[in-house]
Amino acid sequence: MRAIIIGAGIAGLATALRLHQIGWDTLIVERAAQRRGGGYAVTFGGIGYDAAEHMGILPDLLTKGFITDELVYHKPNGERRFSLDRATIAATTGPRSITILRGDLEAVLYEKVEGHAEIRFGTTLSAVDQDEHGVRVRLTDGSTQEGDLLVGADGLHSATRALLFGPEEDFLLDLEHKVAVYMLDKRPATIAPGATGTLSSRGRTAAVISIPDGRNVAFFGYRAAHARPGEDVTTELRRVYGDLGWIIPEALAGLERADSVYFDTISQVVAPSWSKGRVVLLGDAAWCVTLFAGYGSSLAVGGADRLGTELAARPGDVPAALTAWEAAIRPEAERKQKLGRRVKGVYAPTSPFLLWLSLLPLRLASLPPVRRYMTRRFIKG
Ligand SMILES: Cc1cc2nc3c(=O)[nH]c(=O)nc-3n(C[C@H](O)[C@H](O)[C@H](O)COP(=O)(O)OP(=O)(O)OC[C@H]3O[C@@H](n4cnc5c(N)ncnc54)[C@H](O)[C@@H]3O)c2cc1C
Repeated sequence: MRAIIIGAGIAGLATALRLHQIGWDTLIVERAAQRRGGGYAVTFGGIGYDAAEHMGILPDLLTKGFITDELVYHKPNGERRFSLDRATIAATTGPRSITILRGDLEAVLYEKVEGHAEIRFGTTLSAVDQDEHGVRVRLTDGSTQEGDLLVGADGLHSATRALLFGPEEDFLLDLEHKVAVYMLDKRPATIAPGATGTLSSRGRTAAVISIPDGRNVAFFGYRAAHARPGEDVTTELRRVYGDLGWIIPEALAGLERADSVYFDTISQVVAPSWSKGRVVLLGDAAWCVTLFAGYGSSLAVGGADRLGTELAARPGDVPAALTAWEAAIRPEAERKQKLGRRVKGVYAPTSPFLLWLSLLPLRLASLPPVRRYMTRRFIKG
């Protein structure tokens, strides 16, 4: 059996790994000229953690995971509001959960897949046709590929979805925020090694994470009301965040030196069905839950693992396996989408009172009696 997988992100690579484990051949087609590292720290847990254990990649992920030493909430002028210590942070994420850079998770999957799957960079699909015997995919390198299954794991702006399911605007639910993430070449001096500093002010959040191994990530998330169509990322971030102090000027200067930046709107994908015959959408292409839900990479790996299980259980009947797979994954994806829509309202509050209210649970968690309770409850118990 052979699958053609569009996209070499977390969803595409996890699918290739899992299909290899059940004896399939895979071809991965990636539009970018080379691997795309980077991205923010993601919380990897739930069905993703279970799947990683099942697929045998958990030890590698645990090696790359980290726990932030201190999470400091700042005022716009840089003064500290309050902070959470390492034990409280670990307690809030729970025991079966890893904090890991998106790019590191992708790198672990890539290393496992290398040698087992063919990967064609700088290529995408241009046409698809299928019947009960198989699927034929025309690629932009001029070749035509035949397989038993086509997996669209090409993210939020999926070309596979556009080709086979309909135009993007039919599926995207705009959550009215934008995000920009990039690696910083220097740690701002006021961020302690291993710590994360964050602030939120009038519909804008910003954070710098210092990873214990010395790398640093800058994150900006803001209400789209601040955005102007057509503005490039540097101009937009400078205009939106230019009045803020603290490490913001330093982080914005780092953008000019960054190798690459992830810059997009925050939108969910709401699709009534994720498969058509022998074509299936998986990961953000199918269900993007957004960073508000904090579960995109977990769902991508969990979804890939389950796809392999359903295909292995129904040899020779790909469409039936896809139907069973969707029935198994959809409830979890929809729960996380609902969570994402709820979080949207409190993510970057515009008024100081709403900001105070949204930070209240974390502020309480920073108090010694609550901290001691949480640590006992989640870590030791
Ligand atoms: C560089 C990068 C940085 C990111 N940073 C963050 C972040 O900081 N925070 C966050 O919440 N989420 C981020 N994301 C999204 C996050 O990775 C996903 O929500 C989650 O991991 C699910 O992944 P996915 O594989 O479904 O989609 P994605 O991670 O979007 O991967 C899709 C892959 O498909 C490729 N692709 C796209 N279109 C085509 C095409 N037409 N043909 C072939 N290949 C195509 C892309 O280049 C990419 O490699 C980032 C994504 C990328 C690509």
